[in-house]
Amino acid sequence: MEPLLGNDQLRSRLSRAAADRRLHHCFVFEGPEGVGKFSYAMRFAMEINCLAAHDRPCGVCEQCRWILAGTHPDVIVVTPDAERATPIISAAQAREIVNALYLQRHSARYRVVILSPADALGEEAANILLKTLEEPPIGTQFILVTARPASLLQTVRSRSQRVRFGPLSSVEMSAWLAKKGLDSGLIVAAGGSPGRAIALAEGEAAVRAEVLDALCRAIGQPLHALFSFSEATSKKLEGGSERGDLVLQMLEELLADAVAVASGRAPVHVDRLPMLGRWSSVLWPSGIGRLQVEIGLARERLRLNVAPRIVIEALLAHVNLELQHA
Ligand SMILES: [Zn+2]
Repeated sequence: MEPLLGNDQLRSRLSRAAADRRLHHCFVFEGPEGVGKFSYAMRFAMEINCLAAHDRPCGVCEQCRWILAGTHPDVIVVTPDAERATPIISAAQAREIVNALYLQRHSARYRVVILSPADALGEEAANILLKTLEEPPIGTQFILVTARPASLLQTVRSRSQRVRFGPLSSVEMSAWLAKKGLDSGLIVAAGGSPGRAIALAEGEAAVRAEVLDALCRAIGQPLHALFSFSEATSKKLEGGSERGDLVLQMLEELLADAVAVASGRAPVHVDRLPMLGRWSSVLWPSGIGRLQVEIGLARERLRLNVAPRIVIEALLAHVNLELQHA
């Protein structure tokens, strides 16, 4: 199976405990958001139920496959009741867990109950679970996953063993970012959390989509429209040091797409095809070359700390001029 990232020592410690059959019946997996606590809880459920003789979990035996597919009747994942105004793990859910635990196990060595996030456990639900958490039926493994261990009720905490996850090291993070094709610049802001890096990258993708959209609308418009675009965009891009040339990048992508269209290849921004078609007929080939030079100059000006607003305005005025050559 694909290895999990980070917290290697902690994971091998638990693997050894599992192999020696000396597991505490209720773990609290605690640590920062997005460092893989839930993923590991699922992996651990596989590991202690895997039918392979060694290298557990194998990922291919019946037990592993059922757990991977989320269809194993003995692996119970409980998340907050989303129907509620304030989502909590409710008393009704707690009663279901208790009832399920006293039924015969289907086929697993261990019945695994994962509560995620466990800090969503309401007080009433916690009280229903307490006795079971203290003394569950043999072969039951509870895993409470939380980024806010202090919010767990004391009565729950005192019945569990804490397993503390840490952030990933920067070496692990940069390897992971590279593998996922994510910007290595995310490493600082993500603070050792792959989950946070993904959220940030999605935010970045949303900004890109928004800027691209505004750019396409502004191009070809009179000067005052260019002014308001460059003003709005440079405000939006403030604060992100590496975002200053986002508009330049996008313009480069659009020009590359216009070249692709001119030479009969599929553009990346296929949803802009009508505009790209016009660009390729008007700009190809010499206009595109001239604009690429202008983008290079604009990038240089940004590097020299010329205000992005002014750089973008000047560049877009050039684009408009080229587009008028038709
Ligand atoms: Zn297996």
